[in-house]
Amino acid sequence: MIKTNYHAHCTYCDGKNTIEDMVLRAVEAGFEHIGISSHAPIEEEHWTMDEKMLEEYFNEIEEIKLKHKDKIKVYTGMEIDYFFDRGLNPVMKNHMERLDYFIGSVHALGKTDEDRYWFVDDAFEGVEEGIKTTFHGDGRRAVETYYEIMSKMVKESNPDIVGHMDIIKKNNKNSILFNEEDQWYVDVVKGFLSIVKEYGSVIEINTGGIRRYGADCFYPSHWILDLIKDMDVKITVNGDSHDLEGMDFYYGETRDLLISKGIDHIYAFDGKEWIKTKF
Ligand SMILES: [Zn+2]
Ligand SMILES: [Zn+2]
Repeated sequence: MIKTNYHAHCTYCDGKNTIEDMVLRAVEAGFEHIGISSHAPIEEEHWTMDEKMLEEYFNEIEEIKLKHKDKIKVYTGMEIDYFFDRGLNPVMKNHMERLDYFIGSVHALGKTDEDRYWFVDDAFEGVEEGIKTTFHGDGRRAVETYYEIMSKMVKESNPDIVGHMDIIKKNNKNSILFNEEDQWYVDVVKGFLSIVKEYGSVIEINTGGIRRYGADCFYPSHWILDLIKDMDVKITVNGDSHDLEGMDFYYGETRDLLISKGIDHIYAFDGKEWIKTKF
């Protein structure tokens, strides 16, 4: 069984612990690979990295890679936003070669009056307001647009990993915005997965949502795992870890869940490629 986590935040963005502390925790928890993946800089968004810190971030990971190379394989990653209005975060344009891999995520779904983005994972009031402003209150349109942007991201930027693919459901407790069982939603998800399959990105099974927001926030939903299995889409298991406890939170349960679905392989990174690996 291989244990890997390519989605770990640190003090360069909204994580609580340093890069080295996260790496040491990963060693302690028996991981073979750890990827550090801070949020790429977005102006005025304090949960993302300051652009001025990019160089230091890359250098620090390189140092730690060497320092702990006998214990664990450390990779330089980043969680990069794909924006509906300007594509993959342009701040990263001249830095992509420093990365071993990247996670592509869609957090922004529109802009508020003040010309700032609003984000799908904001508190409910913000999302409700955003859907009102951007989509005239049409929740279905918001969901469809989210997957359209995600699809564009996969086609245009070809991320190694697709971050928390159905995070749009985070504010959908008790199906207040949409019903996951509706045929249109199932079709949208299927369509998205077929694009991911075609372009070869890896879907992350993200255990971090549960740790931070509760049981409804396991990404993707269990029924989507059945589709992933049927369609043979690549997956990996990630902690989206924002603190030490989040490093391997819910990993055992996730493994049991995947096995119960007949999924006994994940994709692990060898520094160049994603390799199908028994786990
Ligand atoms: Zn994210
Ligand atoms: Zn994240």
